[in-house]
Amino acid sequence: MPVLVMKFGGTSVATLDRIRRAAKRVGVEVAKGYDVIVIVSAMSGKTNELVGWVGETSPMYDAREYDAVVSSGENVTAGLMALTLQEMDVPARSWQGWQVPVMTTSAHASARIEDIPPANIMAKFADGMKVAVVAGFQGVSPEGRITTLGRGGSDTTAVAFAAAFKAERCDIYTDVDGVYTTDPRVESKARKLDKISFEEMLELASLGAKVLQTRSVELAMRYKVKLRVLSSFEEQSDDAGTLVCDEEEIMESNVVAGVAFSRDEAKMTLVSVADRPGIAAAIFTALSEGGVNVDMIVQNIAEEGRTDMTWSCPVDQVKHADVAMKKAAADGVINYDELIADEGVAKVSVVGIGMRSHTGVAAKMFQVLSNEGINIKVITTSEIKISVLIDRKYMELAVQALHDAFGLDKAA
Ligand code: ADP
Ligand code: ASP
Ligand code: MG
Repeated sequence: MPVLVMKFGGTSVATLDRIRRAAKRVGVEVAKGYDVIVIVSAMSGKTNELVGWVGETSPMYDAREYDAVVSSGENVTAGLMALTLQEMDVPARSWQGWQVPVMTTSAHASARIEDIPPANIMAKFADGMKVAVVAGFQGVSPEGRITTLGRGGSDTTAVAFAAAFKAERCDIYTDVDGVYTTDPRVESKARKLDKISFEEMLELASLGAKVLQTRSVELAMRYKVKLRVLSSFEEQSDDAGTLVCDEEEIMESNVVAGVAFSRDEAKMTLVSVADRPGIAAAIFTALSEGGVNVDMIVQNIAEEGRTDMTWSCPVDQVKHADVAMKKAAADGVINYDELIADEGVAKVSVVGIGMRSHTGVAAKMFQVLSNEGINIKVITTSEIKISVLIDRKYMELAVQALHDAFGLDKAA
């Protein structure tokens, strides 16, 4: 039997009614002759609540226990989905990550999937089971402990299963009907894309478009998984939603494919560090060991042998950065005057493979922001994206102005 992977995100399993609606969708695919692997997220809001409880209990928590708590939301929906399917006379069974097993690294809270041996689930399919419902977002480490894959990780579970089981397709059911030119919640003129290239989707995801977890797009690209994003709230035809595919499969596209943003960023500046070889290595090694995900980096002009080093990171890592720098100073690895944190910034990015062959995108982006009176604090570029750090209060305005200026509401 051909295998199909169907993933239902948090809003799609938020209530028993919605689980029933999702189960009906699964039933339709079973009736077509597929063996279906359903990946479920926790009910929407559940994971946030669990994360909150962990933080309240233990501010500098043990990541192994974080995973023990935070992975539990998916266990509930997996069991409920299996029961719902059974009520519909569809032979179904639920699986937690460790039961499959979904084997991961031991990097708790951001583990990577290493292997998914298909044998256990395949044996059940051979036995007449039609649907394996798998708790997304979780796995088991070599030490035998429960791990989680980072926020939004059920997308990655889904794509990894599609690769491991050589599924015909991986359908990601969510609360929007596809991938848009930007988050439709921020720009009502955002346009749904019928297709988007892996490269562009990868950039959009890593720059904040949470419709797919970055790692899921990486895996889909590497293992050539046919990946589709579609709505769990509408009746679906076979070509509904957005197909994430190779760029060769897309005939026409805009120079800029989309605008992404990441709201909760911080800009940190380490004031007056020695300007000597090895200083950047010392600072960023200490930050990395302190668990800080540094994004943009700027080294300022040196004066009298001292310089300022600026970086951006998620706002909830400011405290970790502070601890890491204080520790590095106490260890005598660096010395500095002070560490300043601007916790009110956001990152806005434009993405498009057309930038490889078109010049002037950066100039236009900066002009648009300038016209709106928005000050740019840090800039970074790569082959197919330009990102700026700006005051958070202007984020929506910047997204809308850029969406407009690059004509994203209209097809190429
Ligand atoms: P799920 O719970 O189904 O995994 P998520 O909330 O993780 O859903 O992702 C879907 C959300 O992603 C949408 O509701 C939308 O607000 C947001 N989003 C951000 N950028 C985009 C984009 N470019 N296209 C579509 N949705 C986007
Ligand atoms: N429930 C997890 C989260 O909210 C994983 C997911 O939904 O993909 O991050
Ligand atoms: Mg998600």
